[in-house]
Amino acid sequence: MLAYLLIICVAFSVVTASLIRLVGEYLFTQKLTSEQRIAEELAASLAEPLASWDADALYAGVLEASQSTGGRVLVLDSYGVVQADTYSEYNGAQLRRVEVASVLSGDGSSYGFYSQETAGGLLVPGLADDMTGLYATPIHGARGMIGVLVFVTMAQDMYRSIMDIQTQIILWLVLVAVAVVILSLFVSRIFTRPISDLSAGIAQMSRGDLSARVRVKGRSEFAQLATAFNMMCDRLESLDKSRNQFVSNASHELKTPLSTMKILIETLVYQEPMDEGMCREFLGDINKEIDRLNSVINDLLTLVSMDSGEAKLNAKSVSLTEILSDNMKRLQPLARERGIEMHGQIAQGIVVSGDVMRLTQVFYNLTDNAIKYTPRGGMVRLELMRKDKKAIARVVDTGIGIPKEDQIHIFDRFYRVDKARSRETGGTGLGLSIVKQMVLLHGGTISVTSEEEKGSTFTVELPLREE
Ligand code: ADP
Repeated sequence: MLAYLLIICVAFSVVTASLIRLVGEYLFTQKLTSEQRIAEELAASLAEPLASWDADALYAGVLEASQSTGGRVLVLDSYGVVQADTYSEYNGAQLRRVEVASVLSGDGSSYGFYSQETAGGLLVPGLADDMTGLYATPIHGARGMIGVLVFVTMAQDMYRSIMDIQTQIILWLVLVAVAVVILSLFVSRIFTRPISDLSAGIAQMSRGDLSARVRVKGRSEFAQLATAFNMMCDRLESLDKSRNQFVSNASHELKTPLSTMKILIETLVYQEPMDEGMCREFLGDINKEIDRLNSVINDLLTLVSMDSGEAKLNAKSVSLTEILSDNMKRLQPLARERGIEMHGQIAQGIVVSGDVMRLTQVFYNLTDNAIKYTPRGGMVRLELMRKDKKAIARVVDTGIGIPKEDQIHIFDRFYRVDKARSRETGGTGLGLSIVKQMVLLHGGTISVTSEEEKGSTFTVELPLREE
């Protein structure tokens, strides 16, 4: 910015200086030509009385010329002797001036400028000014030069008007320069504002304030950069929020069984006497809470290992058909115990690429949920089929269903539709988020359709293994 301003100032100074010089020279030449022309016209008009040696007519002509031009007029003969002078001062005297000598020697018209001191007696009395112009021009008769006309006029006006014009030029150029500086400051602010906004946003963020955002205007590269920065901030902020949420939920999940255990143990320790049956029941409850803690911690460890990227897929050919059939066999006794009918429509020979342990956990969790959230007398069905290049597995139940507004949240960590019921059934609220992470890790998708009191269907789509 400073460099630009410096260049502008230097350029302006150069332009101003040359403009002033040019205008000065032009005005000076103009003035000179017009005065010279006046002198030549006077010389022509006074040629006649000089040629005829008519002193009265010559003097009258000189006076008239002085009045009409406002200058002093002297007529000299061909020897340089003054024959007529507006102020009759030099009559009969030899006028020794370089301009006169130049004309007499046949070099044509000549001019000179004099100050008050150097002009000597040749000033216009009463109008004496700082600068005087002296024009000498030949007077021609029938047979060549018969004399010299000297026209003395004030040159101060000319200098003053040149100075005036120069002052005006300087004034205008200074005004334009100031306007240019202000405009360039303004324009540079417009250009640099997005950068300073962005760096202020980055500085704010580096201080730990994730709410930093940058204003986005227009569609320039800076606007795109600002949009990308804002998106990054949004993402970081939501990550930060979900991390905090996760930590607080995890702490809560771990705290609940601990508090229950503490109450149970305190009752055992301080309440005496307590019969053996009661004691056993309390210890049984404590054992259940320990199991709960264990499962929460296991689920958390699974999630954390997947988050931290440790969960690299140990991808091998895995038969989904086998996984789903084994899953049926494993959970059939539980379903029977709960009075739930369990069916399978499992297509043969469906192979995907993945990790047996993880895929087994996916379908175990989904089927376990289906049994958990289906009342006695209900039905759970496992389906597996091939469609295009995908394996489609469904876990269908006729259970309690999931309200519409909860369906988008059920894959969130620790989300439970009915908190009390889920805890009662031993759920941690982490099962579905583990399932989702694992399916995504296998390049698949999971979705749910559900209706309250009618049942739910969880659909997992996985890419078939290419042979
Ligand atoms: P939980 O350990 O509590 O079962 P999940 O992550 O497995 O946690 O499931 C989250 C919530 O989704 C459950 O608390 C339950 O409210 C709901 N849910 C999951 N599966 C079903 C299902 N098959 N039928 C009805 N609700 C379900």
